[in-house]
Amino acid sequence: MSEARSIGEIEVRRILEMEEPFVTPAEMFPAATAEAVAACRRWLEPRALCPASGRLILAIQSFVLRTRHHTILIDPCVGNDKTVDFHPPWHRRRDFTWLRNLKANGLDPADIDFVMCTHLHIDHCGWNTSLIDGRWQPTFPNARYLFARSEVAHAQATGGATFEENVLPILDAGRADLVDGDFALDDHVRLEPTPGHTPGHVSIRLKSAGQRGVITGDLIHSPLQCAYPEWGYVYDALPDAAGRTRRRFLEDQCGDGTLVLANHFPSPSFGRVVESGAAFRFRYDGED
Ligand SMILES: [Zn+2]
Repeated sequence: MSEARSIGEIEVRRILEMEEPFVTPAEMFPAATAEAVAACRRWLEPRALCPASGRLILAIQSFVLRTRHHTILIDPCVGNDKTVDFHPPWHRRRDFTWLRNLKANGLDPADIDFVMCTHLHIDHCGWNTSLIDGRWQPTFPNARYLFARSEVAHAQATGGATFEENVLPILDAGRADLVDGDFALDDHVRLEPTPGHTPGHVSIRLKSAGQRGVITGDLIHSPLQCAYPEWGYVYDALPDAAGRTRRRFLEDQCGDGTLVLANHFPSPSFGRVVESGAAFRFRYDGED
């Protein structure tokens, strides 16, 4: 897979690790009812909802931004060899799809100048480190890792293997820069606090030559939540805040031309928020 999109002078590439039916809407969103989901089938299927299994199709992917000055990796997926007790298919994976897709996009781990994580869950920070000679080491030899300070504090307080294997080794190696939730890397790339899924969750705002984009992270998981913004994901740490953040995000982006890059939305994952009845719809890039 190799494809590039541009936002002004910023080149954006998706680096896919997985894309498949995961769970049913009811397993993902406790508030979901069969009737409410059925009302969306026509536009959800087959891209976002698998007609055969009834499961939502999610992508696990990263984004790489190339600006005039920097190559920036956002949300390095699940990775290999990681301890993921709560989701056996990801536990101690040995799968090089993500690295192959990075290479297919003309990139080598050594090319990455900055790594950013919208939050520190395993599917957003896994490739931060690799197991080399029995030790977790930074996968990107020339990168600084920019983490939101409050997200690191939350992950540290929560503890567990995800923090110990994917974040702590970066801190210990002196490769992390802890930044505020509204940190601006330059005129083109800045963080924006979007709390709820985790307390320190951030989205990434992009701006160049009059065009705008935003990388959502997990403030939203499926296009289904455009129709029902208050449906919280079962693993949202602060469900009320997550619902408020999601609704405000959809209202702000609706009709304003911002290109939305939604980590977990099915391919092409790029699109725009449009009004639909009392709520919203996601119009994929290239869709009429
Ligand atoms: Zn996620």
